[in-house]
Formats: sequence, C-alpha cells, structure tokens
Amino acid sequence: MVGPLLNYSDQDERKFIIKYFACIGCSATSLMATLAILNQKYILFLSLTISSCLFLYCWFIYRKEKVAASIISYTLYILMLFLVFSGGVKGTGPIWILIVSPVTFFIRGLKLGAFDSLLFLISVIIAFIATEYFGVYEYHSPEMIVRIISCFLIVASLSGFYEYSRERYSQKLIVLAKENQFLANQDPLTGLPNRRFIVDYLSNNELNISKELPLSIVLFDIDNFKKINDSYGHGIGDQALVHFANVFTHTSRGNDIIARWGGEEFLLVLEDTDKNLAIEIAEKLRLHLLNTPMNINNQSIKLTVSAGVEVIYSKDTLDLAIKSADDNLYRAKSCGKNRICY
Ligand code: GH3
Ligand code: MG
Ligand code: MG
Repeated sequence: MVGPLLNYSDQDERKFIIKYFACIGCSATSLMATLAILNQKYILFLSLTISSCLFLYCWFIYRKEKVAASIISYTLYILMLFLVFSGGVKGTGPIWILIVSPVTFFIRGLKLGAFDSLLFLISVIIAFIATEYFGVYEYHSPEMIVRIISCFLIVASLSGFYEYSRERYSQKLIVLAKENQFLANQDPLTGLPNRRFIVDYLSNNELNISKELPLSIVLFDIDNFKKINDSYGHGIGDQALVHFANVFTHTSRGNDIIARWGGEEFLLVLEDTDKNLAIEIAEKLRLHLLNTPMNINNQSIKLTVSAGVEVIYSKDTLDLAIKSADDNLYRAKSCGKNRICY
C-alpha cells in the first residue's frame, strides 16, 4: 500500500476557464446591450440584458462547473441564434457565431463540445432559413452566409483539435504525476511505503486518532544485520530486507501499514489499536520471522528482530511517540535483542 493518491484532475483549471468566460460574457453582453438601447433595438437590448444577468450568475456559481458551463453555453447559443434570426445590428449578427465553438470546447470538453457545436450549427442553418421564410430579416448576400458557416466549421475543427491535444496532454501529465507520487512514496528495494509516506500519513489531518481510537506504532530493527552483510554479502543483505518485508506484509492485518523507516528499521502503524493489542501483534510478527528463515542456496538464514512499541493519542505528540518507540527499541537491544519492549 503506497497511500491515497492526491486528487489529480484538471477540474480546477476548467472552473477557472468557466469563471473567465462568465466574466467576458457578462461584460460583452452588457456593452452590446448599451449599444442596442442607443440604437433603440429594444428586443435585442432585453435579450442581451437577460444574457448578461445569466453570465453574471454563472460567475458566482462557477464552482458548480457543470451547471455553470451548461448555462453559459445555452445562453450563448440562444443569444447567437437570436442574432442570426434577427440579423443583429445592420445584418452583422451572424458574425458573432464564430466565438461559439472555442467557448463550447473550452468549457464543455471534447465530447460535449463536439456534440453541442454540431447541434448549434444545425440550429444556425435552420435560423438562416427561418428568418427568410418568416420575413424577419433578409440577408442580401448568400455568399456571406456560406462564408460565415465555412469559417464556423474551420474555427470549430481547430478548437476541437486544440481541446483534443489539451486533454491528451493533461492526461499524460496526470499519469506522470501519479507515477512520480508513487515512486516518491515507495522504497524501491522492498516495495514498502517509505519514511516520507508514513510521516505524511501520520501527519494527515483526516487520520482519526483519539483517546478512544488510539493508534499504535512499533519500530522494528533487524538484529545483527551488519553481520549478515559481512558474512553473506550485501546482495544477500538486500534479500534479507525483502524477506523481512514479505513476512511482515503477509502476517499483518489488512489496515496495518508497514513502512521502511530506513536501513534495516521498519515502522508498523496500527490504527484503532491500544498498547496491549499492539504488543500482541508485534510479538506475533517477531515469532513469525523467527520461524520463517530465509532460504539462500539451500542455506537457511534465521533473522531476528527487536522492537519498541508506543501508543499515540493525538497528532501533537507524534514526534514524542516515535522518540519513545525508539527508546523502547534501544532497551530491547540492550536487554539481549530478539524481543519487544514497551
Ligand atoms: P543491531 O542488532 O544493534 O541493530 O545491529 P545491526 O548490525 O543490525 O545494526 P548496525 O546499525 O550496526 O548495522 C546496520 C547495517 O545495515 C549497516 C548497513 O550497512 C546495513 N544496511 C543499511 N541499509 C541497507 C540496505 O539497504 N541493504 C543492505 N544490504 N544493508 C543495509
Ligand atoms: Mg538500525
Ligand atoms: Mg539492526
């Protein structure tokens, strides 16, 4: 077990983009609403003012990114369709549809963005036909309509491609960050969590430590390990550390965490465990290691371990508790090794 991974995602960036678009949308529509009232285009003024209010609302609720993104997109689509249908100011309304696809892809992502852009394009074509049919506005240049739709398609494909590469890049970064976090928290020799991980874990605010639910720690140190290195070589010494890690991992309970504290020292963390139970568990592990010798080239090598136990009732006393476990371990060594002190 190498700890809970941090919550990696690009949601925060998307929230920031939504807030930014809400701000731009609100400012732009307010400005256009002012121009519309000066031009005495009252329906346009009303539509722009409503849109401006909706964008402002999204600015406040940007943390609910899905809701805010939907409101921004659909407000923008309705406004743009209205501009196409009414012609806007002197027939320039349809030009604004070019901003739709970049906004859509940025705030809705690739899949929803592609779907919405297509839906919007179909609606725009219908709006062009409908305005002529109902005689609301007559566009004098069919070439302009074709060019605007062509531009829309080009901008949409560029925005879609940009979003596709951004998402791919973002995914690669997330995978890399997870791998780095994993490697930074793992001891490469034994595969156990390392000291950095266990210190972070014990300092974690969400960890529930109290008088009722104490947490126990057991600091283990393999006995006479230098002798193993000297007698069999450093490689066998490494294998002995792996053997120790395997024996302890297979013997400890599901929630227990055994970490490599450094060299031939290991720290066992036992959640919701009082001192008596911790001593019992440490003793069981000590005996299990004693009865599970490692087998190297048909040679049986017995490992023994000494340990110091301590209980933690609050995070404030973490350092003191580790120091106390270390003192207990020191006593175990002084009293002849291959024992648990508490
Ligand atoms: P004690 O019973 O008092 O703990 O004695 P010890 O020999 O186990 O302890 P000491 O501190 O004298 O020696 C620990 C040795 O562990 C020295 C160091 O070279 C060795 N060691 C530390 N890390 C590793 C490692 O990753 N691999 C190997 N093979 N040896 C290591
Ligand atoms: Mg040591
Ligand atoms: Mg030792």
